[in-house]
Amino acid sequence: MKILVISDIHANLDALEAVLEDAGSFDFLWCLGDLIGYGPDPNQCIERIRFFPDAICVLGNHDAAVARDLDLADFNFEARASLLWTKEVISADNLTYLKGLPEQAINSDVTLVHGSPRDPIWEYILFESTAIANFDHFSTRLCFTGHTHLPVCHLDSGEYGSIVSARLNQNETIIPKGRMIANPGSIGQPRDLDSRASYALYDPENLTWIQKRVEYDIKSVQQRIINYNLPKRHATRLEIGY
Ligand code: ZN
Repeated sequence: MKILVISDIHANLDALEAVLEDAGSFDFLWCLGDLIGYGPDPNQCIERIRFFPDAICVLGNHDAAVARDLDLADFNFEARASLLWTKEVISADNLTYLKGLPEQAINSDVTLVHGSPRDPIWEYILFESTAIANFDHFSTRLCFTGHTHLPVCHLDSGEYGSIVSARLNQNETIIPKGRMIANPGSIGQPRDLDSRASYALYDPENLTWIQKRVEYDIKSVQQRIINYNLPKRHATRLEIGY
């Protein structure tokens, strides 16, 4: 079985289409939130995910900002500018879809959240210490998260507190023997100095987690960001992968 695991699309349609094509046929689609924010294609990206009726998608912090009309003070100036624009252009149907997204989903032995199982919307699992603390906050064997925009697996070796964290490169495969928190990286705004869209393929039968990267037409997304008068930094950071 092949499950396409994606996160942090951030309204980047070219990157999303490149990933869907590169992944080939798959049985299920799991999306770990942040469909919108930063990028120029919020409606198109939400509609592309809605196209898969049995896709599982959880709510990210940028999705929550629009769906729950949050105070945008928690976002930096440039992120806020894109969210304000997104609120203006989002269609009623797509807003309803975002409002219906859960903060957490559980599918057999996997918990899906955007940030962390301890704080599904906001917490970043950037350090091993944060990963260690979070293993107590989900009851399934595996937990898939997004939010950091970094493709990383945190593996529990079995003894409490002994976690190994591994940054994964293209085609690197993990077969977790014990529990694992895994992040597929970001589709629409990678932050590991690799500009290629990042995603993962999970096979629950063979228990494999395969990291994937794919190039996409960055220039076309940058042009739309400029055309819509969104902050220039959202365009420039795409080509350096930060
Ligand atoms: Zn994000």
